[in-house]
Amino acid sequence: MNIVGIDLGTTNSLISVFTDDGPELIPNALGDFLTPSAVGLSGKGQVLVGQAAKDRLVTHPQLTQSRFKRYMGTNWGQKLGRKHYRAEDLSALVLGSLKADAEAHLGAPVERAIISVPAYFNDVQRKATMAAGQIAGLKVERLINEPTAAALAYGLNDKDGESTFLVVDLGGGTFDVSILEMFDGVMEVRASAGDAFLGGEDFTDVVTKHFAEKLDVNLDKFSAKKAAMLRDLADQAKAKLSSEHEVSFKFIDDKSNEQTLSLTRNKFEELTEGLLKKLRHPIQRAVMDAGLRAENIDQVVLVGGATRMPVVRSLIARMFKTFPVHNINPDHVIAMGAAVQAGLVSRHSALDDIVMTDVCPFTLGTEVAIEIARGQHENGHFQPIIERNTVIPVSRSVRNATIHKGQTQLNLRIFQGEAPRVNNNVFLGQVNVSIPKNNKEHEAVDIRFTYDVSGVLEVLVEVLSTKEVSRLVIEGNPGALTKSEIDARFKELDKLKVHPRDETVNVAFTARLAKAYENHLGDTRAEIQHMITVFEAVLARQNKHEITETREEIEPHLKAFEDRSIF
Ligand code: AMP
Repeated sequence: MNIVGIDLGTTNSLISVFTDDGPELIPNALGDFLTPSAVGLSGKGQVLVGQAAKDRLVTHPQLTQSRFKRYMGTNWGQKLGRKHYRAEDLSALVLGSLKADAEAHLGAPVERAIISVPAYFNDVQRKATMAAGQIAGLKVERLINEPTAAALAYGLNDKDGESTFLVVDLGGGTFDVSILEMFDGVMEVRASAGDAFLGGEDFTDVVTKHFAEKLDVNLDKFSAKKAAMLRDLADQAKAKLSSEHEVSFKFIDDKSNEQTLSLTRNKFEELTEGLLKKLRHPIQRAVMDAGLRAENIDQVVLVGGATRMPVVRSLIARMFKTFPVHNINPDHVIAMGAAVQAGLVSRHSALDDIVMTDVCPFTLGTEVAIEIARGQHENGHFQPIIERNTVIPVSRSVRNATIHKGQTQLNLRIFQGEAPRVNNNVFLGQVNVSIPKNNKEHEAVDIRFTYDVSGVLEVLVEVLSTKEVSRLVIEGNPGALTKSEIDARFKELDKLKVHPRDETVNVAFTARLAKAYENHLGDTRAEIQHMITVFEAVLARQNKHEITETREEIEPHLKAFEDRSIF
C-alpha cells in the first residue's frame, strides 16, 4: 500500500511518492506538480479546488479562499455559499484533491500520508493538520517538519558526507529556519526557529501598498475586484524582479484610466528592508540555539518560492559568506523530502541505511509555584522539562517537593510553550497525585517526561516515599496510535528512562575520572577536578548528544593522564 508525501503549503501544495527510483512528484489532473492551495465555489455551488479556484480569486473574491494555512487551529472561519468552513476544512478539500490525483496516477487507492508542517507549528496547529487529513480520508502516519523534509531531500544526495545544513524556507506565508547535522547517514535536527506570520506574501503586500500609493488610491475604498487585480500585479512584479532589474505594467484603475506602474530592484530592496530585518532574527536564533557560529555552516539550502528573490539570497550570502545551494527546485524540495519520509515509514529497502532523528519543536514542562516571600508561594510559573530543540525521542526528569507540609494532593498541570507564565502557554493535561500526609517534611516527587517521535508525551510522577507512580499519556495526535501501540512504544523507550548519570558508559567514565584524580597530585589533579566538574554539569543537563560530545572531548586528555599515572 502506497504512503504518499504531501507538502501542504500556504500558496501551493504537492503530493509525492517514494518509488524504486527515489522520490517522485505526482502531477495533478492539469499535468502540474503544484496545486494552488485555493478553494472556491462555482456559480452552481460546486466546490472548486486548485487552479480553477485560484483563477476565480480575482473575479469572485467572495466565493474563493486561499492562504488559509496561517489560520490552522484557530477559530477563524469563512462562509462560502451557505456553508461555514474552518481552515482545516479548506485544507481537507485541498488534501482530498491531491489524494484523487495520486489515486488516478498510481491506479490504486491512497489512504496513508506523511504531511509536512512548519517546524514552528504548535500542538494545536499540528492537531488541526492531522484533522484536515482525517476529514480528507487519509490516515496521517506522521507529520514531518518542513525543513527536516528539505534536508532529507538533499541529505540523500550526500549520504556519506558529514555536513551541517542551514535550511531556510520562505514560503508564501511561513518562514522556517533549521540547523541539521548529517553524519554517518544520520540526520539530526539541532535547532529550529521561525515566524509563522512571515512569508513571500508579505513582500507582495508591501509592493501592493507601494503601487496603491503611486496610484493615489485608498486600498480599503478600492473595489474588492480592483484590489485583487492590483495585488495580482504586485505579485507578478515581485516574481519578475527575481530575474529582471526593472518591471513595468499597465493598470486600468477604478475610473477606467490606464496607468503605468513600474518598479526597480533597488526600490524593491528599499521597500522590503523591514521584512529582511525580520528574516535575520530567526536565522540568528537557530544558529545560536544549535551552539554554532555562522562559519560552522557548510551548506545553506533554500526552500520555498520566495527564496528566489535575490534580496533574500544576498542577505543569506552576506550572513554566511557562502552561496546557498538550490539544485532541487525550491518549490519541490519539501514534497520530495516528504516522499523520502514516506519511504522510511514504509521501510523501503533503498532507504535502509538512512536513519533520522528529529527535535521537539517547543518546550514541554509543568506548572510550579515559586516562593515570593517566606512561606508565601505564587502559582502559575512554568518549569521547562524538555526544552525546545531537544533531539527526540527523549526522556528527562526533575525532582520537585510539595509546597506545604501535610499536603495530601498534588495537581500537576502540564504545558507546552515558551512563556515564563503557564497562562500564556498551551495547556496539555493534568495529573492528580495522592501524597501521604507528612506534617514534618516536604514530600519529594520525581516527574519524568518522555516524548516520542510520534508526538506522544508520557508523564510519570513518582512519590519517592511510597514509590507510587501516576501516569498520564498526552497524544499530540489522538487516535493515530492504539493504546497498546503507545504502550509498546514507551516500553521500547524504557532504556531512555534512566538518568544519564546511571548509564553504564557514564558510570564507567566517571569512575575512570575518579581513579585518575586519586592517582595524581598537584596541578594535574586540579585539571582532572575541572574535567569532573564539567562532566557532572553536562550530565545534569541530561542532553545525550552533549554528553557524548563532552566524553569524546575529555577522553584523549584523560587517556594521557592515565598513561602517565604516577602509581
Ligand atoms: P511557497 O509557499 O513555497 O509555494 O511559496 C510561494 C511564495 O513564493 C509566494 O509568495 C510567491 O509569490 C513567491 N514566489 C514564487 N516564485 C517567485 C519568484 N520567482 N520570485 C519571488 N517570489 C516568488
